[in-house]
Amino acid sequence: MTTSSNGQRPMTVGVLALQGDFREHREMLERMGHTVREIRKPAQLDALDALIIPGGESTTIARLILSNGFQQPLRDFCASGRPVWGTCAGAILLAGQVDNLDRPGIETMNIQVRRNAFGRQVDSFEADLNVEGLSGPPFRAVFIRAPLIERVFPPARAICVLEDGTIVAARQGNLLATSFHPELTGDSRLHELFLTIGAPAVVTP
Ligand code: GLN
Repeated sequence: MTTSSNGQRPMTVGVLALQGDFREHREMLERMGHTVREIRKPAQLDALDALIIPGGESTTIARLILSNGFQQPLRDFCASGRPVWGTCAGAILLAGQVDNLDRPGIETMNIQVRRNAFGRQVDSFEADLNVEGLSGPPFRAVFIRAPLIERVFPPARAICVLEDGTIVAARQGNLLATSFHPELTGDSRLHELFLTIGAPAVVTP
């Protein structure tokens, strides 16, 4: 059997490709040995094992989600138990509560997010993070006009905080949200972790 670069079962992973940095996720996943689909129509979701909502401009992606009929199919995908990961703008779209988003996103995670919380574009920064579930050295993370996660409500929980306690990653079952951009460094550990968080298939007797 073929395996991906780290021995994981090769998966078919979708990256929502309405706007934002979907290509960087695609390149990372392909380097890992997975099959990647750029998703532009809701019907394309059916064939996927997992889905990434990339960074970009959350108001633009939210507008395109609504105008392309993606909102309910994305909610259904989140409910299906397959892994879904929102990075930066994607995290904003997964959040149940967001300040300053002029229309609804996907709203499936019990987290409260504040957009552009670290200042303007020039205030983008990098940090070494300890992420729950990742072994090895700290994870170098790139923050670009990043949101912060103000609060997590069960069953969501924080899985990574900055030194000052600011939450920058959260998990809720098969759903993952990160404020930062893990696709912009060569480190694939978070993508590997993401692909393991799906709920086991329900076996009917
Ligand atoms: N500031 C952007 C927004 O609120 C997110 C930035 C990003 O995805 N890098 O949509």
